Amino acid sequence: MRRMRRAKIVATLGPASHEEKMIEELAKAGADVFRINMSHASHEVLRTTVERIRNVEKRLNHPLGVLVDLQGPKLRVWKFADGAVELLAGQKFTLDSNETPGTAERVFLPHPEIIESVSVGDRLLIDDGKLSLKATKVGNGAIETEVVYGGKLSDKKGVSLPDTLLPTGALTEKDHADLLAGLAADADWIALSFVQRPEDIIDVRKIVQGRAGVMAKIEKPQAIERLEEIIKLSDAIMVARGDLGVELPLEQVPGLQKRMIRMARRYGKPVVVATQMLESMITAPVPTRAEVSDVSIAVFEGADAMMLSAESASGMYPVEAVATMNKVAIAVEGDLNYRNIIRAAHTEPEATAADAISAATRQVAETLDLAAIVTYTASGSTGIRAARERPSKPIIVLSPNMRTIRRMSVVWGVHCVQTEDAVNLEDMVDRACVISYQEGFARPGDRIAITAGIPLGTPGATNMLRIAFVRQDGAGSS
Ligand code: PEP
Repeated sequence: MRRMRRAKIVATLGPASHEEKMIEELAKAGADVFRINMSHASHEVLRTTVERIRNVEKRLNHPLGVLVDLQGPKLRVWKFADGAVELLAGQKFTLDSNETPGTAERVFLPHPEIIESVSVGDRLLIDDGKLSLKATKVGNGAIETEVVYGGKLSDKKGVSLPDTLLPTGALTEKDHADLLAGLAADADWIALSFVQRPEDIIDVRKIVQGRAGVMAKIEKPQAIERLEEIIKLSDAIMVARGDLGVELPLEQVPGLQKRMIRMARRYGKPVVVATQMLESMITAPVPTRAEVSDVSIAVFEGADAMMLSAESASGMYPVEAVATMNKVAIAVEGDLNYRNIIRAAHTEPEATAADAISAATRQVAETLDLAAIVTYTASGSTGIRAARERPSKPIIVLSPNMRTIRRMSVVWGVHCVQTEDAVNLEDMVDRACVISYQEGFARPGDRIAITAGIPLGTPGATNMLRIAFVRQDGAGSS
């Protein structure tokens, strides 16, 4: 299976999509990475969902990434007796410590430590700010509020308290347990919510110990202040626009998105743009023009991936939402202005052999109009540095390591194939040519560029660039 676009698609799984057949349909429609949101999934659901993703991966013979998204210190209301209630502006509504299912008058807030931190007058923004409440009385384990902006309120919706100082760190006890469950299930990426400080990433890395990539969700003003340090310490970042647009004025989010994408691209760290990308497709089979424009902007900016949340997790049209993102990305990448815009935001390579070779490879591949760039990689670093260059030619990443291959599913423009390490240079050239041919990237007579770190298997040691001819039998000669 070969994608006809460079930007990747992350699809969140949920009640609308966690059956195996649906996961397969989403993968066929274009989903490269599946996100399991631990705000909603139990460990049992996590395990069975990963198992289903791996079954689909095997059937389609196409690597799929698994992103386990930790809830973080995100406050959520508990469940309602009848699924959802309608809150009206001006009415009273209480968040309390009573575990019985909620009604239109009250709901359980399972965070006793938070209740006492709220002051009268503080705002409570629910469901990414769609509903707004104002605290009128706090005490006896309850926050009494008046509804300022009403709307539908359903189970486990997030609550933000932009006026309240919260006594929490980035990794809660639940996150710690979910993180271990994610690692045990062989997740490829762990996303950390509400990162505030570089130390939050360091703490998680100590637990993860390289078994998965660590993705920092940028959704707090404090994280924006220390963005560069956080990007350097993370393996990837997510522009988590839902909470970011609640924590900061909404009108600042587009500018911040640009800043984050540029900085992540500069450091060669994958960046995912998330939330409300095709929001109207939760209930409609076609998106709005504004949503198509929003997805297009992320693609034009050179984001590595775009993410679907409720559109694919609980919406009525999950497959259509993925197919729409797929079509939009293909159209944008074929647009006459796309290459110029991508190049304009390109930054100079870092002063390392890996970056120098990656930059030279892009130049050689484009000047000689080569069919593809093939990179051998153990850890994925050579592939990521090749992607950092955003070349106009396809990148094929070869690795013996299935973990590396799956992790690369979020990285811009890479097509990954598992293969044993080459035994010598001739084998390396042959293998690269045969795979380029078999995967439909090169025809006999075409030339490809090959990069690797010699000796193979040494992470980050990219030091070789080779040009090879694809022969009639698909094998190569240099
Ligand atoms: C976000 O806030 O944009 C986000 C992706 O996080 P979550 O969906 O977990 O709220």
